Amino acid sequence: MDKNFQEEFTQIIKFKPPLYKQRHQFVKDLVEKYKPKKVADLGCADCSLLRMLKFCSCIEVLAGLDICANVMQENMHTLSPLPVDYLQPSERSLTVTLHHGSVAHKDPCMLGFDLVTCIELIEHLEEPELKKFPEVVFGFMAPSIVVISTPNSEFNPLLPGLMLYRHPDHKFEWNQAQFQSWALETARCYDYSVEFTGVGHPPEGMEKAGFCTQIGVFIRKYPRTGESVQSEKPTEAVYKTVFKAVYPSLKDEKYLQNAVISEVIFTAQIMKHRLMSKHQEYGDDPERKSKFQPSMDCFSDYLGKLVVEKNMEPFVSGNEVHIPLTTIFSFPKVNRLCGTFEKLCKLVAGKITLSSDGSAVIFNIEHE
Ligand code: SAH
Repeated sequence: MDKNFQEEFTQIIKFKPPLYKQRHQFVKDLVEKYKPKKVADLGCADCSLLRMLKFCSCIEVLAGLDICANVMQENMHTLSPLPVDYLQPSERSLTVTLHHGSVAHKDPCMLGFDLVTCIELIEHLEEPELKKFPEVVFGFMAPSIVVISTPNSEFNPLLPGLMLYRHPDHKFEWNQAQFQSWALETARCYDYSVEFTGVGHPPEGMEKAGFCTQIGVFIRKYPRTGESVQSEKPTEAVYKTVFKAVYPSLKDEKYLQNAVISEVIFTAQIMKHRLMSKHQEYGDDPERKSKFQPSMDCFSDYLGKLVVEKNMEPFVSGNEVHIPLTTIFSFPKVNRLCGTFEKLCKLVAGKITLSSDGSAVIFNIEHE
């Protein structure tokens, strides 16, 4: 490489967004494309990728593994649910776990994953670990997709002030041919296909250097053999679980019930409010009252396409306002949360004041 040309570039190469963010974004895009439910990040370090992935709504199980417990433990609190997660539990379930151990060892907790990410990991492995790595990841874990990123040494001359490797803990840095031949051989051995790409474009005129970070995306060629995966591979647990968080989810009956009760009360309050204001407007004049349609017109937007029958209309009886549960059930959010009318009745029974036959929510308006 022409030295002057090289020096010119080393002055200006600065990735925007920073390279680590581009690598994580690459994984996020992959998750959005393939929608894996279970994702494991090997060599998860400060958990920053896991932190980003927990917002991908398709993911239900997230696991991190690192040989360094301290780096995970210093950051693991950032993977705990936030108050808002309790206030508005998500529809999906999500469990996040962190394990302390090495990618050179097999542990049954790493079975059943759809996507395994190894971002800037392999170059940290000693030779014996690197030898065992393909059998652990591709042979034992055998997820549908594996993504491996590693520095491309052909880009190094373009990086300012670099002596040998990009990080003092790197045991090697491969050029494109070295990475690709290792990846192709691994893929062939374990029946995967592999495609190469990367992040961190080389400057114009330097395309031959390739991406700053080279990436291999491996796709398993054979189908998963169902639930037998775990039983077929009896292995003793060797990793230590250092963190586990189960996020509040509407799949859990306890959170579903809370959400349904709040939504039912909220909906009933709105309907009562509308009914009362119409009631006051028309007073007790029977003729005017007959024109009074507490009718669901006012809710028609909210109701969408759901049809409200006449006998579902709220009414006032003495000091009580009755809001039929059937009406409340026809509101899209309540409908979606409960699924069936029977489920709605079951979830609110004993938790909200209902009419004696259990068909309507009742508000006492004596003091209103
Ligand atoms: N994946 C992270 C960090 C990469 S640094 C990111 O994208 O930013 C590499 C990480 O791999 C370090 O945290 C290191 O502790 C971990 N590591 C090194 N050898 C390992 C091994 N044998 N098993 C598991 N993790 C290992």
